[in-house]
Amino acid sequence: MAFRIPARTFWRASPKNAVTAPMPSLVRKYAMPAPEQLPNKNRTAIVTGSARGIGKAIALRLAQDGYDICVNDIPANLSGADAVVKEIQSMGRSAIAVAADVSNLSEVQKLIERSVTELGPLNTMVANAGIAQVKALLDLTEQDLKRMFEINVFGVFNCYTTAARQMIKQGGGGKLLGAASIVAFKPFALLSHYSASKWAVRGMTQAFAMEMAEHNITVNAYAPGIVGTAMWDLIDEELGKKKGVKKGDTIKKYSSELIALGRTSVPEDVSSTTIVIDGGIIFT
Ligand code: NAD
Repeated sequence: MAFRIPARTFWRASPKNAVTAPMPSLVRKYAMPAPEQLPNKNRTAIVTGSARGIGKAIALRLAQDGYDICVNDIPANLSGADAVVKEIQSMGRSAIAVAADVSNLSEVQKLIERSVTELGPLNTMVANAGIAQVKALLDLTEQDLKRMFEINVFGVFNCYTTAARQMIKQGGGGKLLGAASIVAFKPFALLSHYSASKWAVRGMTQAFAMEMAEHNITVNAYAPGIVGTAMWDLIDEELGKKKGVKKGDTIKKYSSELIALGRTSVPEDVSSTTIVIDGGIIFT
């Protein structure tokens, strides 16, 4: 059977029919970044929980993109934060390490004050810090639930609200980012309160996006799958104990049965992933 090419294909391709100047009504106008947002002007970001793992990868990626970085973590991980600071400084950017517990509002306020004083106006806040815990629902204590929500939910809330107030005071907008997870879409058994906390981050992020839009502050969450970090070492070990399998076996099983790529993610997969950026048409 012969194929016929439709006549309009030739009409479109013919140079005689080529449109040389767009019709005025078809000329699109694109929003240009404000001068203070252009790359030659120093931009700053705070990344919480960035002494290691995903936070560290995000801090390094932002530094590579030209940001000066405030590396935050808890006091126990400050040596890791100092090492990240050195790595960023070796890239020719400014960086400071500031210890603060994100679940404590006054510590978050001091963290932002220090970042602004030492690095300059705040452009981006990445509320990345979080904890995980493997426990059956019926074994969960009130304290387990409180601690999970204090760090993963109140921590993000403290970072979003304090950073947003600072950005509104400065003028010129900004960006808030929060760590959600795939469990914000479908929980993992034995990670129920962790899953619920990430579900809360996702909901709160969408609500912040709506309320912050008038201030030109964009608010988004990232939702990684299984990333090979200290957090997943712990989850793998604890799930293994519950199921009577040895360390490393659970993550191997998930990699082969759940992940199409057949491997767990690495932190850089998260820091270099493209997300939908459409001004809030679609919330995913
Ligand atoms: P990680 O445990 O390797 O690193 C988390 C960092 O946060 C640590 O350095 C820790 O000290 C810090 N931190 C913990 N509590 C803090 C607090 N109260 N204040 C300040 N810092 C604190 O974890 P990760 O795998 O890099 O995860 C980073 C974020 O991404 C977390 O919110 C996590 O829930 C989320 N996430 C991770 C995965 C994964 O597979 N690893 C998947 C989805 C989402």
